[in-house]
Amino acid sequence: MKVGILAYQGSFEEHALQTKRALFNLKIDGDVVPVKKVNELNSVDGIIIPGGESTTIGIVAQKMGLLEPLKDKILEGLPVLGTCAGAIMLAKDVSDAKVGKKSQPLIGTMDITVIRNYYGRQRESFEALIDLSKIGGSTAKVVFIRAPAITKVWGNSKVLSELNGTYTMVQEGNLLATTFHPELSGTTLVHEYFISLIKK
Ligand code: GLN
Repeated sequence: MKVGILAYQGSFEEHALQTKRALFNLKIDGDVVPVKKVNELNSVDGIIIPGGESTTIGIVAQKMGLLEPLKDKILEGLPVLGTCAGAIMLAKDVSDAKVGKKSQPLIGTMDITVIRNYYGRQRESFEALIDLSKIGGSTAKVVFIRAPAITKVWGNSKVLSELNGTYTMVQEGNLLATTFHPELSGTTLVHEYFISLIKK
């Protein structure tokens, strides 16, 4: 199994480490590789879009000619985990808590509404306990960094965890989105769950 991490900007190194830990726990012989170019995208069985700054990630992906091929691959069924900025990239409906709608390059294939910077600025980042029982875990402490919120889901999107009336983890088939940073958490469960989607 080859797991790709979109490696332009944001917490891609932390995701690579957490993915390696998850593969080790699952006793799966797998590779974790950075993805920046189309030929690298073509060799992976699943891809993680990390947290960071969604506008930056989108603009660079577009400049590298990767945005459209990535979108096509995802529509064809490539498993994708989008965390924080990555969840923003996946959403069909995106706006910013302060400035409302403004255009940015997105993948835009997931039936979710995401509001960027929902909790405010960097200093409003926080940790919270969320219930991971729907993916086979228990309560886990996770971190939200200048996080977005998923406020609406429709179609085949299923809520896997929530916090105070917003959704923190949502799945729609091969698409998995979290508004928190699972790569900065003590539990590898989200990555293990994502690997199980790749295995399917
Ligand atoms: N605030 C960032 C954005 O809107 C996301 C923050 C993150 O990924 N930690 O793109």
